[in-house]
Amino acid sequence: MSTATLFIDRDGTLIEEPPDAQIDTLAKVRLMPGVIPALLELAGRGFRFVMVTHQDGLGSAQFPQASFQTCHDFVLELFRSQGICFDAVFICPHREQDPCGCRKPKTGRLEEYLEAHPIDRNLSAVIGDRATDLDLAQNLGIRGLTVSSCGAPEQTWPAVAQALTSRHAAILRQTKETRIDARVRLDSEAAPQVSTGIGFFDHMLAQLAQHGGFELRLEASGDLHVDEHHTVEDCALVLGEALRQALGEKRGLARYGFVLPMDEAQVQVAIDLSGRAYSRFEGSFQRDRVGELPTELVPHFFRSLSQSLGAAIHVNVTGENTHHMVEACFKGVGRALRQALKCEGQMLPSTKGTL
Ligand SMILES: [Mg+2]
Ligand SMILES: [Zn+2]
Repeated sequence: MSTATLFIDRDGTLIEEPPDAQIDTLAKVRLMPGVIPALLELAGRGFRFVMVTHQDGLGSAQFPQASFQTCHDFVLELFRSQGICFDAVFICPHREQDPCGCRKPKTGRLEEYLEAHPIDRNLSAVIGDRATDLDLAQNLGIRGLTVSSCGAPEQTWPAVAQALTSRHAAILRQTKETRIDARVRLDSEAAPQVSTGIGFFDHMLAQLAQHGGFELRLEASGDLHVDEHHTVEDCALVLGEALRQALGEKRGLARYGFVLPMDEAQVQVAIDLSGRAYSRFEGSFQRDRVGELPTELVPHFFRSLSQSLGAAIHVNVTGENTHHMVEACFKGVGRALRQALKCEGQMLPSTKGTL
C-alpha cells in the first residue's frame, strides 16, 4: 500500500535560514514557527516524512563536514525528542555548477527510496521555501507547498498542515466478507478510480463521485462467489463513512442538495447532511439486474450510504430503461451531494450549533 509522504526541505522550511545560508554553529539553529505542532498533526494523520536538503559546498574548507554534522544531528534529535522522525534524509553536498543528480529539483537519489516506499501521489507533497522545491514537486508528480518566514498567511506551518489535512479521508475496512480500501478528497475533482469486481457498480460509483464533484478511489474485494450483496452494502457504508470523516466539523457546509428531473428517466433527489440517517427510495425497476448488479441493491446502497454518512437521502425515480434509471439515481445523488458538500465560509449551517 502506498503511503502519504511529505518531502520536506530543511533550511528555510524546518529551521530558519541564516543570512549566510549556512548552518554551521548551534547558535544559528532556530525552528520555524509552528513547525512542531504541524508535523505532529500530520504524523497523526498518517503522513511520513522525508528530508531533502541542499548543503552547498559541504565538506569544503568554508563548510567543514564536522560543523555541519553537529548542527544537523542536533536538529534531528530535537525533532525526534518531540516525536517527529524522518524516514530518510537526503543531502546534496554539491554546488549549483557541479554536475550531480541529487540537487533539487532532480529526483536522483530519491528514485531508490520511491521504489522501496511507494508513495500515494494524491496525498503526498513537497514542502519547501524555494522554487526548486516546487519544481521537485512537479518532477515527482505531487503537490508543492511553500513555507516562508515572512510570507503570506497560507505559507505558515499551521496553514500548510490544514491544507494537507482538510476535507479528505482514507478508510480501510476489512471483515470476513469484504475488504475495502477507499479514499475521498472533497476539494479535488481528479478522475474516479473504482474497482469492486462488479463492472456496472464500478460505473455507478464513478458516476456518483464525478457528479458529486469529489475524488473517489475505491478498491473492494468481496465474497462475490456468495453474491453481490455484501460488496455493494459495504462499499456504501465505507463511502458514507469516508465522506462523513472528510467533512470534519462541517463548517461552511452548504448542507442541502437537490436535483430536479433528468430527461427520459426522471429522478428527484434531496439530501440533507444533517448528521441523522434517513433514507427514502421510491421507484421500481423492470429488470432484476443491470450487468452484474441486482437492482434490489440500489435502494439498499442508498440506505447504507445514508446510515454511515449521517444524511437524509430521498430518491424518487421513474422511467422505462432500467440501466438509465439506475444510472440516473447515482448521478442524481452525486449532483445533490455536489451541492451539499460545497464549502461556503465558516458558518455552521445549523441553529443548534452542532451538526
Ligand atoms: Mg530551503
Ligand atoms: Zn548533488
